[in-house]
Amino acid sequence: MKLDDRVALVTGGGSGIGRAICLAFAEEGARVVVNDTRLEEAERTVKALSDPARGRAIQADVADSGQVKAMFTTVERELGGLDILVNNAGIAVGADEDREGLRRKFEARIMEAVSGQGIQTHLDVTENLSDAAWRRMLAVHLDGTFFCTREALRLMSRRNRGAIINLSSVAALMGLESAPHYSAAKGGILAFTRAVAREVASRGIRVNAIAPGFIDTPMTQPMSPLMRAAALSRTPLGRWGEPREVAATALFLASDDGSFFTGQWLSPNGGLFTG
Ligand code: NAP
Repeated sequence: MKLDDRVALVTGGGSGIGRAICLAFAEEGARVVVNDTRLEEAERTVKALSDPARGRAIQADVADSGQVKAMFTTVERELGGLDILVNNAGIAVGADEDREGLRRKFEARIMEAVSGQGIQTHLDVTENLSDAAWRRMLAVHLDGTFFCTREALRLMSRRNRGAIINLSSVAALMGLESAPHYSAAKGGILAFTRAVAREVASRGIRVNAIAPGFIDTPMTQPMSPLMRAAALSRTPLGRWGEPREVAATALFLASDDGSFFTGQWLSPNGGLFTG
């Protein structure tokens, strides 16, 4: 098996892409630590693993360095070290953002674009973004990726081996007009991936990113039918990606199949971005 007895920690493993990655890794023989903000969701993933006895659920907010430290202490104590980290935890919008207002504007723009009369409705996301929404977005994605990577490297450096996979997004490659804070966080993750990959290569630790396109998960469920149709029209393969297709990419990067990959991003996106 590709990950025989390796210890993997997947953040945000209680849902969507993270859950699919946990299942795929366990299928290939890994012992999987499933992190999430909600313990019951992490436990649900553990129950679904091919061998639930080899899984472990840990509740922690990755944006909180104290909680992250405690999580890694538990991993070290119970599993003896770490071979693979997947920084997957993420949010699409903050609690205080007007999701409904943005949907209305987005749909109005689509109709204006197809009518050929020019776009009159302006999104104005950036000028209305609160400090709190900006900070929380960067905290979950960028701080979370940093906090977990820092702790993982402390464990991996003892054995001079390991693989780290960071979930970025096509938002980092193209810019997502409805989510400047999300795009900035995902862009930061790409730059961090490249820098740390160069830094730790001499220790035999590989660091890569995945930049998915539109994937059918709870995160993308709130998109309206019109927004979903617009997303599809921009995706040459003409369908949404499935979490298991991102998990296959993560498995490739985590296993020895990806042994000459470091500092790279792979983008399962159905042709949405081809640059
Ligand atoms: P999802 O179904 O919403 O899953 C994300 C999981 O992360 C949720 O269980 C969430 O818990 C958890 N989480 C959020 N904040 C956390 C925190 N501070 N600490 C620990 N866990 C936290 O989303 P997904 O679509 O699978 O997304 C997974 C990753 O892929 C994200 O980084 C996302 O940005 C990225 N991505 C997704 C897409 C897509 O189209 N779906 C495309 C490109 C990139 P709660 O539910 O409690 O918040």
